[in-house]
Amino acid sequence: MIIKQDLAPVLPGKNCFGRMNKKKSLVIHQTGNAARGANAQMHATYQINNTKYKDPREASWHYTVDDKETIQSFAHDVICYHASDGSGDGNMHGIAIEGCINADGNYVKSVDNMAKLAAKVLKDEKISIMNMKQHYDFARDKKNCPAQIRAGKDGIDWAKFVQMVQGYINEKPVVAGAKVEKPKTDKQLADEVIKGIHGTGAERKAKLGNRYDAVQKLVDDMLKPKPKPVPKPKPVAPNKEVSRSYEETGTFYPNTTIIVQDAPITSATIVARYYKGEHVKYHTVHLKNGYVWLQYKRANGQQAYIPCRTYSNGKYGPLWGTIK
Ligand SMILES: [Zn+2]
Repeated sequence: MIIKQDLAPVLPGKNCFGRMNKKKSLVIHQTGNAARGANAQMHATYQINNTKYKDPREASWHYTVDDKETIQSFAHDVICYHASDGSGDGNMHGIAIEGCINADGNYVKSVDNMAKLAAKVLKDEKISIMNMKQHYDFARDKKNCPAQIRAGKDGIDWAKFVQMVQGYINEKPVVAGAKVEKPKTDKQLADEVIKGIHGTGAERKAKLGNRYDAVQKLVDDMLKPKPKPVPKPKPVAPNKEVSRSYEETGTFYPNTTIIVQDAPITSATIVARYYKGEHVKYHTVHLKNGYVWLQYKRANGQQAYIPCRTYSNGKYGPLWGTIK
C-alpha cells in the first residue's frame, strides 16, 4: 500500500505531547464527519493548518484513511491528542488512525483501507493485534468511537474489522520481481520466428530488437537443409571370415605332422594325428576359423576334421602336403 506523507508540524503543547511515544497500542477512530469532501486530504490539511488558527483544537492523530488514499500526518514517535484520556495510555503510547465516513466516499472500501493500514502498522511496530483498541476503550464515558464500526454499519462490526486486519497481517508480502517473466531464450524466439509469430524482414528486426542477430543466426541454422550422413562402409573384421563348406572328395597326403580334431575349430578335442607319408580320404571341405578343414569319417565311425592350410580374408596359405 502507498502511504502519502503530508506531515504536520510537531509543536509540543499545541498539537502534541512531544516525541516519546512508546507505541504500545493502535487506536482506531472514525472521523464522525459524514460531510461530502470530508476525506483524508481534507483532514490531513486541517492538521497542517490547525496550529495557525487563533484557537487551535487540541486534536491530532497519525493517519487518516479514506476510500482512495492513506495520508500520514505524524511520525509514530509523536504523542498525539486523540484518545480523550489526557496523559493516559491511549494518548501517550498509542498510534492513531482515523477512518473517513464522508458521504461521497465508498464506506466499505474506506474501512478496508483502514484494515490494511492497521495491519501494516501492527506489523511494522510489532504491536499485538490484542492491542489494537477502539477510541472507546480509553474514554468509555464520553466517546462512541469508531461509531460506525461499533454499530456494525454495512455488516462490519468490531469483530469483523479485527478479522479483516488479521487477514492482512497473514498475507505474505509480495516478493519484488516474483512475477517478472524470465526472458525468452534464443531457441524459444527462434521457434517463434519459424512459426511466423515475429513476421519477416524489417518487422522481425523491429520485434526482436537487440536479440535479432543471435535469433536470426539460430533460425538460419535450424532451417539449413541437413546433409544426409553418408553411410560408412562397415569395416570387415579380419577374424569374421564368412565361413563356408562344400562337398568334395579327395585324398590328402600331409608332408608334416597334423593334429585331427572332432570339430573344425582349433579349440576342439584332439582325436588323432596324421604324419608325413600317411593319407586321409575326405568327403567335405570347410573354410572356417582360419583354416581349410577336410572332413572325413574315422574307422570308428566318428566324423573328424584335419586342417590342410591356413585360410584368412579369402587368402589361402601354402598346402601342408598334396591333394589327389
Ligand atoms: Zn475517536
